[in-house]
This record gives sequence, C-alpha cells and structure tokens, in this order.
Amino acid sequence: MVQLDPHDIERPFAKVRSRRIFAMLGRALTLRCPNCGSRGLLRNWFKLNERCPRCGLRVEREGHDYMAGSLMFNIVLAEMIFAAAFVAYLIITWPHPNWNMLEIVAPAGMAIAPFVLFPFSKLVWLAADLALRPPHASELRDGGAGSTPAR
Ligand SMILES: [Zn+2]
Repeated sequence: MVQLDPHDIERPFAKVRSRRIFAMLGRALTLRCPNCGSRGLLRNWFKLNERCPRCGLRVEREGHDYMAGSLMFNIVLAEMIFAAAFVAYLIITWPHPNWNMLEIVAPAGMAIAPFVLFPFSKLVWLAADLALRPPHASELRDGGAGSTPAR
C-alpha cells in the first residue's frame, strides 16, 4: 500500500500511480472493493457491509465530510447522467421531441437515478478517496495483510 509523505500533501497523486487509480475506479464500477478487487461489499443494493471481506477495508471512512461528499457525489453523478441522456434524446428526436412523455419521464428519472446509481457512486467515491488518502493500516483488518500490493 502506498503511503503519502506529509511533504506530498500538495501533490496527493505524486506517489499513487495512475494505473493504480484506474484499477481502483474500474473495481468500483464493477462493484468490487477498490483496494483489493474482492466481491462481497454489498449487503443489498442500498446497504454496504462495514468492511471488505478480504482486505478488511472500512467502507465508511473516517472524516466528518466523507458521508456528505459521498451523498453529494451520488446526486451529482445521477443528475449529470440524466442530463446527458436528456440532451441526447432531444438531439436525436429534434425537431419533434415528445414533450408530453418528457413531462413524466424527466422528473421520474431524476428521482430514480440516485437510487439506481447508489452502490456505484458509493464505491467510486471510496476509490477516489483512497487515491487521495491511501488507507492506513489501522483501517484494514489485520493491518492489511490480506490486501494486494499496488500494481
Ligand atoms: Zn478489499
């Protein structure tokens, strides 16, 4: 596991190689542990286990703003995807978009998207946070002995 030197605080990615960051994001997008790639983080669609079953990484990290950031990321991601789909629909169907259908589908999509994307946004946020703040040994069960080294 890569540990940042306090001198790298202004360059948080200095010692975290980009391949490691992309690997963590890829694992998160496939609902696996960003740290070790293990499955089994989801208890159900809306509830994650407290720790990764393999490396023991705490899914809810320390920090008073971690939870707020996670929720904000979920909503921003959901609305950005929805906005992109909305614009794509308008471009494809222009000049005759079905406005009556949009009046129903648009608000429903904006309300449903954060729930559909919940585990993805939660794990992508965790991966981004791990890239900025690599886990301390105390955050991993048995000091991280079960985690895979950075590749
Ligand atoms: Zn893990």
